[in-house]
Amino acid sequence: MSDAISRLGQLAWFRLGPAASRVLLWPALALLGIAGLLLLAQLAETLHPPGLLPLAGTWLDLAILLGLLLGQVTDAGEGWKQQTTRLSRAWWPGMGLALLSLLFWHHQKTLAERELVDRVGQQHVQLAQDLSREIDDHLAAMRRFANVWRLTPVAPGATAWATQAAPYQRDYRYFLNIAYIDATSRIQLVHPPTALNLQVIGSRLFDAQPAGREAVTRALREGMEGRTDIIELLQGGPGIIHYLPIFLAAESRPTGAAAMVVSLPALAETLFAGTDPEEAQLSLTRGGERLAHRPAAARLGPWQQEAELDLSGIPVVLLATPTLPRLLGDLPRQPVVSLTVGLLLAQLLYLVLFSQQQMASQHQAVRRSNHELRREITERHRLQQEVEWLAGHDELTGLPNRRTFMGALGGHDPHRPISVLLCDIDHFKRINDRLGHLEGDRCLVEIGRLGRGVIEAAGGLFARLGGEEFVVSLPGRDEREAMQIAEALRAAVAASGLAHADGRPLTLSIGVATGAPGPLRVDALLNAADEALYRAKAAGRNRVVAAR
Ligand code: GH3
Ligand code: MG
Ligand code: MG
Repeated sequence: MSDAISRLGQLAWFRLGPAASRVLLWPALALLGIAGLLLLAQLAETLHPPGLLPLAGTWLDLAILLGLLLGQVTDAGEGWKQQTTRLSRAWWPGMGLALLSLLFWHHQKTLAERELVDRVGQQHVQLAQDLSREIDDHLAAMRRFANVWRLTPVAPGATAWATQAAPYQRDYRYFLNIAYIDATSRIQLVHPPTALNLQVIGSRLFDAQPAGREAVTRALREGMEGRTDIIELLQGGPGIIHYLPIFLAAESRPTGAAAMVVSLPALAETLFAGTDPEEAQLSLTRGGERLAHRPAAARLGPWQQEAELDLSGIPVVLLATPTLPRLLGDLPRQPVVSLTVGLLLAQLLYLVLFSQQQMASQHQAVRRSNHELRREITERHRLQQEVEWLAGHDELTGLPNRRTFMGALGGHDPHRPISVLLCDIDHFKRINDRLGHLEGDRCLVEIGRLGRGVIEAAGGLFARLGGEEFVVSLPGRDEREAMQIAEALRAAVAASGLAHADGRPLTLSIGVATGAPGPLRVDALLNAADEALYRAKAAGRNRVVAAR
């Protein structure tokens, strides 16, 4: 069940999803609570109508909206349980818009329903007024009828009575009969002459209808209009009997009275006939007793309206119950439409903001990984350069190594001479032994720096062959020039200030070999230089010796 509600919530106009946060959940629930209260208020109005409508659509509206809200809360609860970090910021505008839509809907719906209740009520008041007017009309007609006899000196005869009564009885169908009563209060004439009516001729009306005694006495003795209360008529059904004194020409005392029997159901029916039974059920009541009734031809609405009216001085109530189809037909669709549109917009707003936010964070992630990638590429490039450099150089002295040196010899121009110097530090072992390896390393670095300065100035390459041995190539230099450069190198080292533990200067022995222009025989050249170096060592070190 809670699963289904949660899924419903996911379809709703906003979705907390797993992004709901503990911190922001409570304000969100508060907002939902307000919306829920609004709906409950609506529900309360529906259940206890002070005139407002519980319409067929409303239950469905309420069920759907409550479902959506429940879904939201359940969904929020899920997010809360998962203790996820942040409520999506996109949720708030969506929620705000949804709440506004609900408020607006509620407001519009209430206004529309009140307006409808008023409109229907006014129609019923109008109907009651029409009924009052009809009653006034029939009273005026009765007086006209009674006054006709003032024009004649003779008491009404059967023919004259029938002639006068017929049009009134025809025009006002609710006059069940019009009778002439003589001064002794006996019924003399009755129109129409139905079997029932003819039966009462010669009788005293109030013998048959005692309720009329006072009224008839008033007409015959005092010459004033009288009427019964609402009574059960002999013809059946409730009605009123009016007694109007009849004066003959030039007479001041009534010669008799006209008794006019008004059927209330017939009276109401003439009026109700002008209204549509599809629209309302109508009843005429007095003190809870139903006098006339016109049922509706459709399902009744939830409430009824009362309009009071005066029936010849007797207060009665017109009860009108509008039918459901009539109410629904008159109720504007606009509130529901604007609610639907509002909720859709809220949903859209949420989706747009949410995807924008998603895109922004994805964009940021891409930028971050791009940055990472660039940093990594730079680092790799640097490492590669370092590896390449290390492949061609000696790490300690930073000089080109044997590999670079051999490569340089390979690129030598065969049309030019080339000289090679092989240099070996004299008694270097003693430096290590007496002054330590660190001092040995320092001497190697210093001699590298010195040698490089001298040789590169002469256009040659100074490389470390390994250990404490260095090798020099001097392209384009013949033996004489090479001897001079070697001597300058030897002298520079001897004068460098680098010294043994006993103070004697650190020196170099150098073997020099020169190759004439033509194909270069590297091994032979190096062997020759090595042999010269060996001889330099043998001759006492700290000297330059040329190959033989
Ligand atoms: P000679 O005059 O006969 O050349 O005597 P030598 O002591 O220089 O002879 P040898 O070739 O036997 O000694 C070379 C020493 O150089 C041995 C080794 O300990 C030292 N050596 C080689 N490479 C390095 C290095 O990179 N650093 C240091 N501190 N010593 C090195
Ligand atoms: Mg050596
Ligand atoms: Mg040595």
